[in-house]
Amino acid sequence: ILEVNGIEKSFGNIKVLKNIDFSLEKGEVMAIIGSSGSGKTTLLRCLNFLERPDKGRIIVNNEVIFDAMDPATQKESELRRKRLHFGLVFQNFNLFPQYTVLRNVTLAAELLAKKSPDFKQNKKEIIKKIYDRGKMLLSQVGLSDKLDCYPHMISGGQQQRVAIARALALEPDILCFDEPTSALDPELTGEVLKVIKGLAERRTTMIIVTHEMDFARDVADRVIFMDGGVIVEQDSPQELFGNPKEERTKQFLAGYK
Ligand code: ATP
Repeated sequence: ILEVNGIEKSFGNIKVLKNIDFSLEKGEVMAIIGSSGSGKTTLLRCLNFLERPDKGRIIVNNEVIFDAMDPATQKESELRRKRLHFGLVFQNFNLFPQYTVLRNVTLAAELLAKKSPDFKQNKKEIIKKIYDRGKMLLSQVGLSDKLDCYPHMISGGQQQRVAIARALALEPDILCFDEPTSALDPELTGEVLKVIKGLAERRTTMIIVTHEMDFARDVADRVIFMDGGVIVEQDSPQELFGNPKEERTKQFLAGYK
């Protein structure tokens, strides 16, 4: 479903990503681990075009959606459309404080629907569908009783579950998480991880940047260890955690024991 070829990204003179190569199958869950500053967030931002890679290609469903060598793939309007292949859940939830939980989930789908040519004729029906789907997603993350709450009225864990429902609302091919529990108190982490695990069980294709090693081991089909902007090692969780090949991986994992 996804192929990343030779992605590189620098900020000024600092090369933050070097020759990043990996691929992802439909229904696969990939965890990305690595110390702070190793480039994990920047990699996710490149996939979503929040940053433009300096080099490399991104291929989704066999379509080259970005090629640093080919300006035709980099038109802003096109990138907005192509970004929809990816859903993104941030560390800090980033909900709209002025909207209810349900509206947070439905807003992007509504804005998108308004651009479609048949919106005017079928307005009522389309909006109803979007709201029904929003409610279904919120029930999936266990928040059916919070539809009309505002973000400040619910816990951080609940806010993050809203953010997950919101990311799913546009039916992305690949759901990306950037340290989804790092802003949460430990007692709220579990409920978010449980939701993500449920998605994994339903074969949602996901890329999860995480510091939760037990969680990565538990849900991921494959784990990538990054250090200094490179992929040092990628393997099954059994191999990468149980039998790491590279010295740097061993050192990193030793810090978590
Ligand atoms: P963390 O676990 O702390 O989130 P990370 O592995 O996600 O770390 P990145 O956030 O991708 O790492 O950062 C990689 C490097 O790139 C860091 O040295 C960071 O300071 C630098 N960096 C990231 N974004 C920018 C930016 N917009 N401008 C300049 N430097 C940046």
